Amino acid sequence: MKVMKFGGTSVGKPERMHQVMELITRDEEPKIVVLSALSGTTNALVAIGDSLSKGEKEKAKAQIDKLSEHYQEFITALVEKEDALQKAQAIVHEHFEFLHIILKISFNQALNKDILAQGELLSTKLFCVYLEERGIPHVLLPALDFMTIDAFDEPQIGSIKVKLSQILQHHPDQKLFITQGYISRNAKGEVDNLKRGGSDYSASLIAAAIQASVCEIWTDINGMHNNDPRVVNKTFPIDQLSFEEAAELAYFGAKILHPASIWPAQTYNIPVKLLNTMEPDAKGTLIVQEAGSKGVKAIAAKDGIYAIKIKSSRMLLAYGFLRKIFEVFEKYRTPIDMITTSEVAVSLTIDSAYYLKAILKELEPFGTVEIDDHQSIVSIVGNEITHTPDVLSKLFAALSSVPVRMVSYGGSRHNVSVLIPSQHKVKTLQLLNEGLFGLS
Ligand code: ADP
Ligand code: ASP
Ligand code: MG
Repeated sequence: MKVMKFGGTSVGKPERMHQVMELITRDEEPKIVVLSALSGTTNALVAIGDSLSKGEKEKAKAQIDKLSEHYQEFITALVEKEDALQKAQAIVHEHFEFLHIILKISFNQALNKDILAQGELLSTKLFCVYLEERGIPHVLLPALDFMTIDAFDEPQIGSIKVKLSQILQHHPDQKLFITQGYISRNAKGEVDNLKRGGSDYSASLIAAAIQASVCEIWTDINGMHNNDPRVVNKTFPIDQLSFEEAAELAYFGAKILHPASIWPAQTYNIPVKLLNTMEPDAKGTLIVQEAGSKGVKAIAAKDGIYAIKIKSSRMLLAYGFLRKIFEVFEKYRTPIDMITTSEVAVSLTIDSAYYLKAILKELEPFGTVEIDDHQSIVSIVGNEITHTPDVLSKLFAALSSVPVRMVSYGGSRHNVSVLIPSQHKVKTLQLLNEGLFGLS
């Protein structure tokens, strides 16, 4: 059995859903198809939630009506027969009715998660109507019946596995299953989600849970590129990445993959393929245990980073100093991304300001604390790059005009990271494309 995940642009137009139908019926292998919301929908739902959280009900209503119009147009072009159209209309009506009811009740965060879930619920149900019209046998698996996260928002792979296999046992003769990406149930049993871009994570978790032959991530580009194609001109797809390399790139900002989407596939050794719905025969990127080749593979950048410097004149003598600092971050469940030390100070980075105030207060007794916001981590990822000649000299030559705040080298053999002010990110990515790949 395999998993095929299609992102927002891959289902964002009626003709794309047609392409998806063709891709999932190309071979006989049983499959679970994971769908995102139609492109733009989750952003629209976020905006509706924002308006409601500010009490701007009129604005929210206008946003809901605009989105509803989009879906009316979408379904008219998606299906041909009258009865299929009626079914699609009933689905759209049901979900927009729900959004209209929400306008009348008082807003809270749990309700917001319900709003955000509407996109994937709509896309999967409409796709099933389309499949039914075409006479393609399938079963819709509600993700909310098996995709669960614990009180710390961590997916519970053991329970996902048990629940999913029980559900699949009820359909021994079926070969095609459709389910929602992104959405989940939390420890309280409420509707929740795996954070933005989370459908990749759903796909990888499902692939791990069913021990799939492969987890295919179908998107709008021919695989993982060597640099961010949104801001760098000459980029190219990478044939093969190891799980470690892919995980580093995803974590450090390559938008094509959700930051946490690699570990489930890696843990259960499921190959991941990044493929292009618009160019299905392009090679894409294969992600497996082996890296395939040596040297620098790709560069990615992660924004919204805070650098915290703790300076203590007594640090050199004080073993246990780092432990005390780390305990503060542990207490507030805030992961540290980069860290560098000198004899008198330690600098580290975090990507969430949620507990920043409390963290800073608890760090104060350890020395002088300084904070820089609007920082970006730029990561150079590859296989054995710390053993590849010239990487550092090329890196620093390329960055001679960039004010580098921190450098992390030697933590693993696959990564060199630099911290820079975000305003220099685009220039940095471009300079590195030239300096490390000879492309300008
Ligand atoms: P989907 O909706 O299919 O999940 P996303 O928009 O989440 O698609 O991810 C695909 C996009 O990621 C690409 O269109 C591209 O602009 C962006 N991207 C950023 N960095 C990279 C990279 N290194 N390689 C490929 N795509 C990247
Ligand atoms: N629809 C969700 C989002 O836009 C999940 C996803 O696309 O992966 O974030
Ligand atoms: Mg995505």
